[in-house]
Amino acid sequence: MDKRMILYRGSLKSCNYHCSYCPFSKHRMSAGELEKDREQWFSFLHTFCRDAAGMHVRALMIVPYGEALVHPWYWEGLARLTALPWMDAAGAQTNLSFSMDIYQKRFVQAGGRPQKLRLWATFHPEMTTVPDFAARCRALLQAGITLCAGAVGVPDNLALLRRLRAALPPEIYVWINRMDGLGRAYTEAEREAFLEIDPYFGRELAPVAADVSLCAQRLFVEGDGRQHTCNISPVLPGRWDGEFPAPRCGRKRCSCYLAYGGRNDFMNRMLFGDYPLFRIPRRPRAVFLDVEGTLTPGGGAGAEMSGRGAAGGVSAPVLAGLEGLVRDGTRLFLATTLCRRDAVKRLGRAGRLFAGGIFAGGAHLVWEEDGRLQERFLTLEENAVRLFMERKELNRQYGFRTLAYRSGAGCYKITLLRPAHRPWTEREAAAVFRAFRQTECSGQAGGGGTRYLVEGCCVQIVSAQAGKAAGVRMLCQRLSIAPEEAFAFGDSPEDAEMMRICART
Ligand code: SF4
Repeated sequence: MDKRMILYRGSLKSCNYHCSYCPFSKHRMSAGELEKDREQWFSFLHTFCRDAAGMHVRALMIVPYGEALVHPWYWEGLARLTALPWMDAAGAQTNLSFSMDIYQKRFVQAGGRPQKLRLWATFHPEMTTVPDFAARCRALLQAGITLCAGAVGVPDNLALLRRLRAALPPEIYVWINRMDGLGRAYTEAEREAFLEIDPYFGRELAPVAADVSLCAQRLFVEGDGRQHTCNISPVLPGRWDGEFPAPRCGRKRCSCYLAYGGRNDFMNRMLFGDYPLFRIPRRPRAVFLDVEGTLTPGGGAGAEMSGRGAAGGVSAPVLAGLEGLVRDGTRLFLATTLCRRDAVKRLGRAGRLFAGGIFAGGAHLVWEEDGRLQERFLTLEENAVRLFMERKELNRQYGFRTLAYRSGAGCYKITLLRPAHRPWTEREAAAVFRAFRQTECSGQAGGGGTRYLVEGCCVQIVSAQAGKAAGVRMLCQRLSIAPEEAFAFGDSPEDAEMMRICART
């Protein structure tokens, strides 16, 4: 909860551009109305600068109706925000038509920090040309400003948007928004063409079911102080006064990027970092993802063996995000306690996207090197395996079946499986493992080179050297990737260490 973000929309409803489809291009604001917008912005800023640090807000983006950055007060505000030591980033959606003079005078000379500035630049084909827009993007990039650029996915504009992509340096991500007024579905050829421009365009087409539990770290504030959880959710009680209200949502779908892109889920963080609403990709070189509870709904590792959830598969939004990563050149790996066959089966169509992984809690590693599939197993001592398989009185006492997972190299995982309705407690698992260790101490082998972990109705037993973090280190080394250039995510204590070593500072 320490990386909250606010979106701000003032009462501005005018634009210096006159695109034929846009209502704000026709609206003229009087000097008095503009002055009101300026006063509201500075009033909001006053409260923000006083209270936002205490609310754990670290980022803000202006999302105006119309164009805000042609007005000096927005630049002055951004200068103040980026100069705050506790602020990570501040920015705005813009058509990039502002002059560099206003940027220099009202932002740089006012103490603004360009490295904290984030611009979401929209290309308007009726009002500018690809060379002019691309030149502005390059100038801002050279000034040390981070930005993304993009446009609405109008099929008739495909050739133009291809030219835009080609005219921009690769470090500028070009996004494509779904065209709401298209009145039909995109054809497969159009979809593919837009995916070649924006690898994450598939996310725009995948329906995202609303889930307000993922929206506690965000707030949308209007110039008059009205608050919403996101840009499409209903007005919340009370006005902006330096408090962060509890989230509320009356929607069925998170139907646009400003909604779904601000949810606190692993996909947004993996693709776009701590403040995904700025839409600046983090482009990890590799990702390591847990299966149960992360890529697929939780169901317990026993689901496969009991046949539950075997059809599984990942949701459409997650699949679209994974496909985008692969298109963007990221290598995907699984990091799971499941064996490889079960993990891939659980993923359904998404299984083909993964270049390998850390399976069986780190006892089995799979990766591609020099165009060939490589594998490494950490096996258990055969004497230990025999003990685990032969202690039938423990099976009866604790009511489990023993499954051994073998490769040509030997047994690399043992699962003590209980019926789904009778999950293991930590205490029971510890007692069973202790019983094996006592056998070892009485002179027979077993337990010494092993460790166990509890997952619902399964106790997994693997080599003491096997672990997801060790697997991440080893695969990163083989692939010449620094762990900080990778991203890892999972929802169990087993995942904490691999997430820590992949965290960016
Ligand atoms: S519609 Fe908005 S508030 Fe509701 S779940 Fe989606 S992003 Fe959250």
